[in-house]
Amino acid sequence: MDTKMLIGSTLEMGVEAEENIINPKTGETIMMLPEASMEQIDRAVNAAEHAFQSWSRTTPAERSNYLLKIADRIEAEAEEFVKLESLNCGKPINAVRDDEIPAIVDCYRFFAGAVRCMQGSIAGEYMAGHTSMIRRDPIGVVGSIAPWNYPMMMMAWKLAPAIAGGNTVVFKPSEQTPLTALKMATILADILPEGVVNIVLGRGATVGNALINHPKVDMVSITGDVATGKKVLQAAAKSVKRTHLELGGKAPVIVFDDADVDAVVEGLRAFSYYNAGQDCTAACRIYAGPKIHDKLVADLSSAVSSIAYARADDSENEIGPLISERQRDRVASFVARASEQKHMEITTGGKLHDGPGFFYQPTVIAGALQSDEIVRREVFGPVASITRFTDVDEAVAWANDSDYGLASSIWTKDISRAMQTSARLRYGCTWINTHFMLVNEMPHGGLKQSGYGKDMSHYALEDYTAARHIMIAHG
Ligand code: NAD
Repeated sequence: MDTKMLIGSTLEMGVEAEENIINPKTGETIMMLPEASMEQIDRAVNAAEHAFQSWSRTTPAERSNYLLKIADRIEAEAEEFVKLESLNCGKPINAVRDDEIPAIVDCYRFFAGAVRCMQGSIAGEYMAGHTSMIRRDPIGVVGSIAPWNYPMMMMAWKLAPAIAGGNTVVFKPSEQTPLTALKMATILADILPEGVVNIVLGRGATVGNALINHPKVDMVSITGDVATGKKVLQAAAKSVKRTHLELGGKAPVIVFDDADVDAVVEGLRAFSYYNAGQDCTAACRIYAGPKIHDKLVADLSSAVSSIAYARADDSENEIGPLISERQRDRVASFVARASEQKHMEITTGGKLHDGPGFFYQPTVIAGALQSDEIVRREVFGPVASITRFTDVDEAVAWANDSDYGLASSIWTKDISRAMQTSARLRYGCTWINTHFMLVNEMPHGGLKQSGYGKDMSHYALEDYTAARHIMIAHG
């Protein structure tokens, strides 16, 4: 297993405090990994700064070729990545192999193509005797910080548009899930020029904090908790760094009475519980119309009770455990507090799994009110609440009544109602009669406290480049 960080062209171990890397399926230690020292972080940033001088002057076609090589290597070594991600996160091996790896490879390939055909305003004489044109130039050194829920995919979402756009990067994976990033370090050391991507390990409070405050880091890109995003903004304010924030979510799901209840149940069984609900777009806050409500509660509870997890034969598993004991206990405490309220009923799940690892039973909570904690706060676990609404205005008002603004969905057979309702929702994405589906051509990102960075699509390339005006006087 790779254990070395990448600083410039050197693969080296961290030298500071060791972090316990745990297998969430068993609770056992996989290995101890030391984090980077301040001196190593400094060297990584300096290497990125130095590499920027030449990398920023390569052509889009040259950078595109590097990205294609990275994609090919991931594809060629996919099975090793699958095993590492599954080991470190507890994800079912088939989910990583079939869902994540193809999307990750496609992300690098998408940006390899997209950077060669960026679009924008056309050059012209907007003032007599002067020609104006727009350039899109890289920003500089990007400090990229990723969470633990999709370690390798978040790395792809951050690295691909940043280096495609001509930036150089110092990347920090979550201290809980560094294994695929360490394998990427060896591949990137082979493929990329020295210093274009540097990878450092460590905790948020130490290594993350040093990166976001580093004077030579020009932009910070982070996917994580809202509280962490706020710390990034405070640090960025000191030197006016650019920020790219992808924070949490609490996705509302509006199910109208005319929806196809079987399709809704099949969809929510998948989209509320995928990755054990550790997904910022998880369909966790369901609002059901008055006529469909009771059937939806009954059918969804029955469907969710059949979700396979913690089976000895991993190929049968649909979801894995929570990432850590702390996260599992946090989820359990949300459900425990909800179950103490008489108006709510746990219709399936609601308990810790009896056995090793950090599993929690897939859970449905019926009778939740808009003011309840389970409706308002991000649980980040396999738990969905159902709330009955009376009319469309109430459903839209409740859906929008959230600090978050990342993802949402509407389920109805009436396309006019779907279009009218989607226009009223304040979310970065609204799916109609589905949920959770992402494509590299379309942006992913939020409103409100979910942040404002866009991942994937040409919008991400815009986020990682600056529009510059060049004006020529004809003389
Ligand atoms: P987290 O905020 O605790 O950690 C995310 C990353 O930030 C980690 O690498 C961590 O080490 C680092 N970090 C923590 N404190 C820091 C600090 N003071 N300075 C610099 N870096 C710091 O979040 P998490 O628990 O790893 O991930 C779960 C959260 O991420 C959830 O809230 C989830 O909704 C959110 N998330 C959002 C998206 C999205 O696209 N919007 C995607 C995935 C996860």
